[in-house]
Amino acid sequence: MAATAYGPKFAQLLSHYVSCKENNSNGIAHSADVAVDLEQSLAALKGLENDGEEQDDEEDADTYRGLLEASVKSYVDLANEIHAQKTILEDMRRRLMDGEAIEDGDLVGHFEHEFERAKQQWANKSEQEKYHVDEAYVEFKQKTWEQRYPNRPFSLTTEGGSPDHDDEEEGLAIISQHESLKCPLTQMIYEDPVTSQVCKHSYSSKAITQHIRMSQRTEPHGRAECPVAGCKHYVALIDLKHNKKLARAAARRRAQAENEEEEDEEEYTFMD
Ligand SMILES: [Zn+2]
Repeated sequence: MAATAYGPKFAQLLSHYVSCKENNSNGIAHSADVAVDLEQSLAALKGLENDGEEQDDEEDADTYRGLLEASVKSYVDLANEIHAQKTILEDMRRRLMDGEAIEDGDLVGHFEHEFERAKQQWANKSEQEKYHVDEAYVEFKQKTWEQRYPNRPFSLTTEGGSPDHDDEEEGLAIISQHESLKCPLTQMIYEDPVTSQVCKHSYSSKAITQHIRMSQRTEPHGRAECPVAGCKHYVALIDLKHNKKLARAAARRRAQAENEEEEDEEEYTFMD
């Protein structure tokens, strides 16, 4: 097949992924509605009953809560697979359009290899890394929480016992590693930072994308060596995840730097 013939084929495939993704987020929203209904029915039942059957109801309720939670998690897992496949296909399309050879023409083999790798990475992530960063999952948890505990502030981690602050601590640890808040590639304060899920190093989004593209002539599978000195890992586009915490920290640092500059200028004018 001539390279140009791949364009429409891939476009067709990719549009299929868009509708997959929509169906999937509908599924999460639907589970959230069911969860809210469940909590409302339970609250209503509690108001009616006082004959000792409450214990059984609570146990049943926990079973249903568990099932709903599991279904939302499987939606998130599926969303990740869809995203991974789409990313791999987009990358393959771009390379074919550029006239690059992929694995001696074994396109299916290349796709399967990359997809396996993406699934393995997902399997190695913690629950928090998988779900607590997913907006639809968080919304599901929040809606359910508000029904169940209308007077308590929402938290993802305090449900069912002792509060744990792992999430927050992890975020802070990542930021303190990046004290300078400078991208290893641009040496400037992060812009739209992304973090590699493999080695946890962060980069400005544009710079690392360009870095990976530049390496494609010498590295197979659309990956590049991590540009952080001493880091032995490789980084590919699908390993990168937007880092909101780091973005906020970088924005604060940038504002701070600008203020300092202004102050310096003022002093200078004064001395003049
Ligand atoms: Zn690294």
